Amino acid sequence: MRWHDLAVIGGGLAGVATAYFAARAGADVVLLERRDLNLGASGSNAGSIHAQIPFDPYREMGEGWARHFSETIPLFRASIARWRTLEAELGGSLGVAIKGGVMAAGTEADLRALERKVEIERAAGLPVEMWDRETLRARAPFLSDTLLGAAWCAEEGKADPFRAVPLIARRAVEAGLDVRRNAPVAAVEQVAGGWRVAGPWGAVHARKVVNAAGADAAHVAALAGVRLPIEGHLIQVAVTEKRAEELPFLLYFTGARLTLKQAAEGGYLIGGGWPARAGPLPMVDQTSMIRNLAVAQAMLPSLAGAQVVRAWAATVNGTADWRPILGEVPGRPGFFLNLFPWMGFTAAPAVSEAIAALALGQTPQVDLSPFAWPGEGA
Ligand SMILES: Cc1cc2nc3c(=O)[nH]c(=O)nc-3n(C[C@H](O)[C@H](O)[C@H](O)COP(=O)(O)OP(=O)(O)OC[C@H]3O[C@@H](n4cnc5c(N)ncnc54)[C@H](O)[C@@H]3O)c2cc1C
Repeated sequence: MRWHDLAVIGGGLAGVATAYFAARAGADVVLLERRDLNLGASGSNAGSIHAQIPFDPYREMGEGWARHFSETIPLFRASIARWRTLEAELGGSLGVAIKGGVMAAGTEADLRALERKVEIERAAGLPVEMWDRETLRARAPFLSDTLLGAAWCAEEGKADPFRAVPLIARRAVEAGLDVRRNAPVAAVEQVAGGWRVAGPWGAVHARKVVNAAGADAAHVAALAGVRLPIEGHLIQVAVTEKRAEELPFLLYFTGARLTLKQAAEGGYLIGGGWPARAGPLPMVDQTSMIRNLAVAQAMLPSLAGAQVVRAWAATVNGTADWRPILGEVPGRPGFFLNLFPWMGFTAAPAVSEAIAALALGQTPQVDLSPFAWPGEGA
């Protein structure tokens, strides 16, 4: 019987990047994807590369939450550093552009809250600066003059969700990765010497397994008797027609959900996690779209009249506290989790490299121990 060093479950960025780093290190890796690569969140997201703590959960859960969540900042920073080097390593474009991110405040209360969040981020090592109203006007005269100030982080930016998984997968296959498409995993069983992972397509044996099944990771973990607090949420994104070049950075707003970026070609990508609707497939919700566009236009007045040319909905992997769940599951030797919710596109490169290192018995370059499986009842 053939034994693989590693079986990776899930063909999104987390799974494909884990498989790539492990295969590149010489491991015999098989990747099991129930449909095809990049059809989940990794190929349908907004492509923002984040480093600042998101404002929405901060407003809801407060400074204690932000301090706890700030443990992820070293992971985001390591991943951003990895996004910067990956294109050269892979020999192709991933559409990476790190031109900074502005989180703009619309009220005095939000500005004060933003200042406190910036203190927490700085304490965690993130270079962020506060811009007062005049500085914001001087640096971004195209934004609404109602904004009172902003936090600026030069490390944020974007990458292309259509390019990342395909290119990394190609290089992984060149390094020997065995990709099995149409291979839904329906059984994960500990056996002598490792794990048996099976489905209607057959079975593989591997010494180690990585669960990178995104929004369905709880289902996959349950197959191994592990209960995970991760679930799917339907959210949506819209893209406008091409407009004159104006917005160089990633823009957020404290007053309502918004991420806004302008592509090199001129179109604006408008997101921020507005809810979509369930259907046979995820469906765009028109009310969400209108509200999302209204926020974008209020922040960037020149967007008024812009036509939306495309919108889509998809399922994002979410945890209630926004924290990732990473590393080997205690009591399940050789069963690893690579689950980064809400902002998993940003985090995947460095986190997946670390998960691959752990699974191969090496020391990872980033410390994943604060994000270990929280245990039953979490
Ligand atoms: C609309 C939207 C916008 C977003 N915007 C951003 C953003 O701007 N920046 C950012 O950082 N993040 C963003 N995210 C979040 C980010 O996309 C995800 O956190 C990340 O892509 C998760 O990657 P993943 O590989 O874990 O999951 P996925 O890409 O969802 O991949 C999981 C894979 O596992 C497979 N799978 C599931 N169950 C099984 C099984 N039983 N057997 C075999 N295969 C299985 C699925 O088919 C899927 O291909 C956004 C998400 C959405 C939906």
